[in-house]
Amino acid sequence: MELAGKNILVVGLARTGVAVVRFLAARGARVTVTDLRDEAALAGPLGELAGLPVTYVLGRHAEADFAAADTVVVSPGVPQESPYLQAARDAGREVITEIELASRFIAASMVAITGTNGKTTTTTLTGEIFSACGFRTFVGGNIGNPLIELVESGEAVERVVVEISSFQLEWISAFRPTVAVLLNITEDHLDRYATFQEYIDAKARVFENQGAADWAVLNMDDPIVAGFAGRIGAAVFPMSQRQELAEGIFHRSGVITFRHAGREERFPTERFRITGVHNIENIMASLAAALLLGCDAPRARAAVEAFGGLPHRMELVRELAGVRYYEDSKATNVGSVEKALASFTGITLIAGGKDKGGSYAPLAPLVQERVRHMILIGEAKERMARELGHLTDTRMAATLEEAVALAAELAVPGEVVLFSPACSSFDMFRDYEERAQRFRAAVNGLAGGGTP
Ligand code: ADP
Repeated sequence: MELAGKNILVVGLARTGVAVVRFLAARGARVTVTDLRDEAALAGPLGELAGLPVTYVLGRHAEADFAAADTVVVSPGVPQESPYLQAARDAGREVITEIELASRFIAASMVAITGTNGKTTTTTLTGEIFSACGFRTFVGGNIGNPLIELVESGEAVERVVVEISSFQLEWISAFRPTVAVLLNITEDHLDRYATFQEYIDAKARVFENQGAADWAVLNMDDPIVAGFAGRIGAAVFPMSQRQELAEGIFHRSGVITFRHAGREERFPTERFRITGVHNIENIMASLAAALLLGCDAPRARAAVEAFGGLPHRMELVRELAGVRYYEDSKATNVGSVEKALASFTGITLIAGGKDKGGSYAPLAPLVQERVRHMILIGEAKERMARELGHLTDTRMAATLEEAVALAAELAVPGEVVLFSPACSSFDMFRDYEERAQRFRAAVNGLAGGGTP
């Protein structure tokens, strides 16, 4: 892609936007930046770009900028139906996201990881396996390091592992990963998509430019994911915890087995530090991608065994009076909470937050079977109570702190208090991390001594 002299409009000036602008300016593009936030709100990013020859349209968007640009690079946060993006498309302009732009300049083998849940865990672990196997590796995308920063640095890496969200996939055109991993698809983001099918279609785009020389690692235990086999151009590498596979990766009685082209590698799970059915899924996906792209089994095995997981995903905070308190603030949808509930019995569940529009009904069987008390908070609490409240003892709390105090009264020794919200955090907190810290502080503040 030739950038010199091109008119490029960058929409949205967060960390990724800043990196994109720096990259484009260095390549001689004529860059205009637009953001609905004003100059005062954007002081930080603007400072980082000081001195670069950039035109700014801040506090508003101007339709003419969208219609005049050769290419529009849009932040994935901007909804597809934005009238400004529509104006760009009507004028025949190319609209892409940063991941599409960056991938045009990357020659290394790339693993793209998507799915409703497990993306960050799987992306991190895959990166660690490649590194342990001696590959110079860049890990980025949705996970925090924009891919364009790799291109900008000019660093020669051998493997790129990228976490990619449905929002980023909406705007790809040539993005073509060597290995695309699709972990699972359950309802999420129905506040952004008109229908569940639209969300599925966005996820499916990860395969759209792949050919027979590329791989799609598909979780065959997920009916929606399995449905892509036979409908995509890539060679399918299946994974399963339910069936043994002649070709693919599967889990049976404590051993993960990788089979490909006559090669068989075995990975006993007993020494893994991250546990639960969902983490076996993440580990299998990571191993499949890594082994397909040249990793050796002994070093991959050591990397998996050393991996301790990420914060805010089913983390044990404390054991107090025989009750274990788990923080799972990153569980912002029903699919992730299902996995959390399936991991325990005798649960006092604290849930609720900002409603994303999906149904809570998929949780019903597990709530009935495993949840002894449910304490609901946030905007979603009434709707959750209507859909699930008849299945177990259900109460409401005004604050997270009140919910924790109530949970401590209700749970008995041997049981678990689990904070797995099934909602986003923006009704009561800045983000899921602040929500996590508030839960942890409340738990650590419970009377009864013990070490935090
Ligand atoms: P993502 O990046 O897709 O949000 P994370 O790895 O950050 O995924 O995990 C988000 C939430 O989903 C956490 O609550 C975690 O425990 C749960 N989770 C992780 N892996 C899976 C999986 N494979 N299936 C379902 N839930 C998962």
